[in-house]
Amino acid sequence: MDLRPLIRDVPDFPKKGIVFKDITPLLGNASALAFSIDAIATAHIGKGITKVVGIESRGFIIAPAVALRLCAGFVPIRKPGKLPWKALSESYGLEYGSDTIQIHEDSLEASDRVLLVDDVLATGGTMGAALKLVQRAGATVVGTAFLIDLAFLGGAKRIGQPVFSVVAYQ
Ligand code: AMP
Repeated sequence: MDLRPLIRDVPDFPKKGIVFKDITPLLGNASALAFSIDAIATAHIGKGITKVVGIESRGFIIAPAVALRLCAGFVPIRKPGKLPWKALSESYGLEYGSDTIQIHEDSLEASDRVLLVDDVLATGGTMGAALKLVQRAGATVVGTAFLIDLAFLGGAKRIGQPVFSVVAYQ
């Protein structure tokens, strides 16, 4: 199924110079939504995944659906100040300034095998920091999955873990 007609380019959102990939037409299409979740889940069946970690905020739309298909739990990675319990933090550089994400320190165990999920892979900074959080929490990373890989930005190289994407823009 070709998902590209259901991914809308929005120029200069949320700021000038960024072409935002709006996935809401894809999410609203029953066939495209099922196809996307199936594609991610099918690629990871049989790998012993026990937790699917989703990154706030659009990763939260996809990760729990994948977790259900893999009979795995869901663990959120959130922006600072949102998690109520003791949390580990990782900061990463943006074009201007930096950002921080957090995970509950007791959300993963040494026996956990983790798939990390987000909507879009751009430079890989966000997923790179998320990987560090999962590793610091003591679990094993099995791979990463995205609806969209902006492959021309080279994020996959920066991640250094298996990358699965439903749609890649070369
Ligand atoms: P990065 O850390 O550069 O890989 O950026 C990935 C994060 O920023 C993801 O959580 C995406 O939701 C968001 N993001 C980055 N670029 C875009 C884009 N062009 N369209 C939509 N979301 C984006």
